[in-house]
Amino acid sequence: MAMSMNVLQLADELRTEADAYRYLEGLRWRGKPVCPHCGSVGEHYFLTPANGKSRKTRTGAASERRVWKCRDCRKQFSVLTGTIFHGTKIPVRTWCFLVFEMAASKNGISAREVERKYGLCPRSAWFAMHRLREAMKRDPHAGLMSSIVIADETWFGGTPKNRHGHKRATKTRLQGQTDKTPILALVARQTGEVRSYAVPNVRAQNLSKVIKTQVNTPRTHLHTDSGPHYRKVAETFAMHSTVDHSAGEYVRNGATTNHAETYFSQLKRSLDGTHHHVSVEHLPRYLAEFDFRYTTCKDTDTERMTQIVEQTGGRRLTYA
Ligand SMILES: [Zn+2]
Repeated sequence: MAMSMNVLQLADELRTEADAYRYLEGLRWRGKPVCPHCGSVGEHYFLTPANGKSRKTRTGAASERRVWKCRDCRKQFSVLTGTIFHGTKIPVRTWCFLVFEMAASKNGISAREVERKYGLCPRSAWFAMHRLREAMKRDPHAGLMSSIVIADETWFGGTPKNRHGHKRATKTRLQGQTDKTPILALVARQTGEVRSYAVPNVRAQNLSKVIKTQVNTPRTHLHTDSGPHYRKVAETFAMHSTVDHSAGEYVRNGATTNHAETYFSQLKRSLDGTHHHVSVEHLPRYLAEFDFRYTTCKDTDTERMTQIVEQTGGRRLTYA
């Protein structure tokens, strides 16, 4: 793995658009270009521009796009073809810095900040950040969580009077009287991976439905607080341990929900401090971003950048 780069070193590396293409190629292909049309890996032909430096686009402007030709299907491609970057009007250099911001900022970066720092228009900045969140989503083929899994929930948005008191919020939610959205977080104790979901309510049946798709329950020891809804949820698990927060207890026989609470406090800091207003509609995208950051918290910034760029393929947004 390459040494982790700070923003000055990155700026040094990325002086031209061609540099930026080369940089993304390095992170994504590691020297072995992959044809996005047929999946062939390896010795494809690099097409050197006629004048050695740039080629003309359809509008006649000069482009430093680095183009390859597949040795198998003979089609042309660049490192952007078929990725979240496809068809972008934002310079590739700027994209590299935006990936860096996503990988290196603890609380994320808002579209407004991106707009100011990188001179993008509001709409471009907003879509750019959502495209990157798409690349930060977990691999859809990721396996089930197992061993020890902590489940906990928090409440997002809504009226200030409900902002404190987890138990009271739960009660009003069950009565359908709050506009807060519950967020369920599952943390795998051994790997540190977190998966979180906006759920319509915290009834056991509903939580179980989500958990079943993510956790190998017969092979998992579930840790939760003493919320009554988890008793039903725990039925398919190998074991269930609880900590009683209302009794001031935070660890009991090694069971704790602290990891989930750390995740939630970071999530709330980001949602309140960085993004200010996130609608429930877009919440899942932000959760994907924070899950990614929490899960990779032990990696270097460059390792996180690499993972984001590796995951840019096959994830073109349908709404942008
Ligand atoms: Zn091909």
